[in-house]
Amino acid sequence: MSKKDKFNLILQEVARSGRQWDENVPFALLKDDSFTVLGKDTSETGGMSWKGQLTAKEGRFVLQGSWQMSVPRQCGRCNATFTAAMTGDIDVAYQLGSPEDVEQAELELKGDEPDILSSGELNVVDVLREHFWLAWQPMVVCAETCKGLCLQCGLDFNKGECDCHLKKKDNPFAALKDLKFDT
Ligand SMILES: [Zn+2]
Ligand SMILES: [Zn+2]
Repeated sequence: MSKKDKFNLILQEVARSGRQWDENVPFALLKDDSFTVLGKDTSETGGMSWKGQLTAKEGRFVLQGSWQMSVPRQCGRCNATFTAAMTGDIDVAYQLGSPEDVEQAELELKGDEPDILSSGELNVVDVLREHFWLAWQPMVVCAETCKGLCLQCGLDFNKGECDCHLKKKDNPFAALKDLKFDT
């Protein structure tokens, strides 16, 4: 059942020298069924670049490294498509233990203790996938300075100016009123 590939490890079999990665993880492996948000754009992502290592020390296994990935996104302000660079660091410790140890650890919920794995199986892609989706922001902007769209005429303020604001000058609440009653 345990499929051993370059991302799938059995901790008991990890040599003293540990393991190193400098790999590209295809996005298909990082997909999470609950996130359909990338949908058909997936082909445009080059996958995740992952550089890391697993070291075995005093009965503990420490997975450390960093990942980065360029993801096509749509700006939440101006709707433009842009490439968002995502990065993250990973620093997780594991320890082998019995299934009872795992249960006990789950009850105690000690955040700073190593994760206990009873089978010794560790899939690094699972760890990367979890970190990737934790870092995922539902709302992103193409630039902090993005000026967005005019709520009234739809013009992209990054490309020019409209005169909507002049028409509503006398009443600051006019725009709000239009939104509420004219739609
Ligand atoms: Zn924008
Ligand atoms: Zn306008």
